[in-house]
Amino acid sequence: MSNQQATELCSETTEIPFIGRKLESLDDIPREIADRRLHVEFGEFIAPEKSETVRNIPDVLETPEEFSESAKKVGLEDTRGILGWSTDLEAPAHVLKGDVGREIATLIHEDLHRFTHPETMRKMHENPALCDTYEGITEYLTQQAAEGLHGHEPGECYPEQVESARQLAAEVGEIELRKYFFQHEMADEVGKALKRYTEEAKIEKTA
Ligand SMILES: [Zn+2]
Repeated sequence: MSNQQATELCSETTEIPFIGRKLESLDDIPREIADRRLHVEFGEFIAPEKSETVRNIPDVLETPEEFSESAKKVGLEDTRGILGWSTDLEAPAHVLKGDVGREIATLIHEDLHRFTHPETMRKMHENPALCDTYEGITEYLTQQAAEGLHGHEPGECYPEQVESARQLAAEVGEIELRKYFFQHEMADEVGKALKRYTEEAKIEKTA
């Protein structure tokens, strides 16, 4: 029993290599945990230079006042109910300060946006129904990386969209969905399924 436990502990620690980044402020801790969880789950799909870009341009954690001020600068007037926002790979995401578990989950969610392949991102913003699906996929992936995270309650963000994303993943395959999200591969296969989901959403809304 004790041998078994020792082996498990050993294999767990070797999965996460020591990265050697400095922890100099309290905010570095949620950022570091988010980064590690993201890369344990999705590292093989993310180009190393993109990971470096996000680490060199770290996300910012803001008080409610700072958060609404910086949001206003990009035209986001109402931040009620919003926990984070981001624009692209080269700009930091903005995350509302709060419980550490929630901060980490939000950092993962926003970094997933930063890591989304630009072409996939463009497709997803072509119409409002796809925007919703894209948020669902992002939160679905967030929940995978945030699994078991203390202080994080999965299911609070985009519950219906996450359910659609789960169905989409079951249909096209987890790996294929990840390839589409991060690398814009499998575009035909995933694109076809997405188109169908969008049409179904439209029918539901008009029904
Ligand atoms: Zn989002």
